Amino acid sequence: MSSKILIGNGILITRDRENHFYDKGAVCIEGERILEAGDHALLLHKYPDAEYIDAEGMLIMPGYINNHEHIYSEFARGASIPGSAPKNFLEILDGTWWHIDRNLALDETYYSAAACYIECIRNGVTFVSDHHASFGGIRGSLNKIADAAKMLGVRTCLSYEVSDRDGMEKRDDSVNENIEFIDRVHNENSNMLKGLIGLHASFTLSDETLEMCAQKNVHDAGYHVHVAEGFYDEEHSRKTYGKSVVRRFYDMGILKDNSIAVHCNHISEDDMDLIAERKTTVIHNPESNMGNAVGAPDMITMMDKGIRVGLGTDGYTNDMMESLKVANILQKHRRGLPDRGFLEACRMCFDNNAAIASDIIGERYGAIEAGLPADVILVDYHPVTPLTGDNVNGHLMFGVNGAMTDTTIINGKVLMRHRKLVQADEEQILSKSREAAAALWKKL
Ligand SMILES: [Zn+2]
Repeated sequence: MSSKILIGNGILITRDRENHFYDKGAVCIEGERILEAGDHALLLHKYPDAEYIDAEGMLIMPGYINNHEHIYSEFARGASIPGSAPKNFLEILDGTWWHIDRNLALDETYYSAAACYIECIRNGVTFVSDHHASFGGIRGSLNKIADAAKMLGVRTCLSYEVSDRDGMEKRDDSVNENIEFIDRVHNENSNMLKGLIGLHASFTLSDETLEMCAQKNVHDAGYHVHVAEGFYDEEHSRKTYGKSVVRRFYDMGILKDNSIAVHCNHISEDDMDLIAERKTTVIHNPESNMGNAVGAPDMITMMDKGIRVGLGTDGYTNDMMESLKVANILQKHRRGLPDRGFLEACRMCFDNNAAIASDIIGERYGAIEAGLPADVILVDYHPVTPLTGDNVNGHLMFGVNGAMTDTTIINGKVLMRHRKLVQADEEQILSKSREAAAALWKKL
């Protein structure tokens, strides 16, 4: 049997350097890489022995990228937490998220990750950057998530959110968890598994803790940190340290060109200039911001200042097309003007997310182009209006959602075909995941 797979007879959206588009295109995969993309008839003639996947007129595209997720939050779905009627963001954190993560044991972390990666595959997400917390079982937790990612075949970047909130012993454990994991992935040097140093947020990180992270940092790893998500974080920094969160992280060396500053909801234009100067990436999570009532960040000014803003979901969903839609309308709603937001949301979700993931993975990623990692999805979308190379994003924004993903291929492996997982027993894993979630809920 040939090691080549030819996926053809669909509308090919490459997002390559020239943004090639084919009404009837094909992509040939060999092993873990894209061998060639182009005209269907031409490639069919050129690779007659390849295993053929008929796209049946669907969209053939690069997979979606999620640059900020909390995989463990998968287990919050449907949970009712006694006494939880939060009045502000801090009460949401302490009453829900920290309460869950204090009770998360390693086995529960593993199954929450397996369940989340299944949802990634089902939504066409081929790369996800996680920000993990499980203060009920810190050491070994990132390896557990990595095991789940490997079992399901999803490309991922992991980090553990260091925090002082549960005492110094757990703080130390969380720092060491990051460092050992980063050392592991550095040695493995696989483009399927990467790491960043996770930091919770300024208001639960002392100067001593930040210094410890900088001192112990290995391989010049970047940081993945929440920045001024709620106003409380910003207020706390100004009161405690006499400066903004961004200025504090700037001064402490946390803002680097390979660091990820998540949210940035309550930052000033001066702060934006500091982020731009350091070439730090910002990740926007519009649905989560709205759900937590923490305000709508000014992503348009940040992007106008040259900041690279990407898109995540922050545990709210695994559907990047949902996040794309809300990113567009949230900026319009915030400005009270409908003139901006569409281009910016698309740039976050497609161009910038691909560039951010490329930097993390260590090679060009997020396009269908010869030599790139073979992460390809088929989307069961049949346009009612003309679809051309110039209006792809308009069709995706207003016509496509994650559940329309028919086929997901990551690293050259077909993981889902016609919405059925082909390499993993989904029902068995989800049954175990429901058991693990129920065990967690009993503790809450
Ligand atoms: Zn987050």
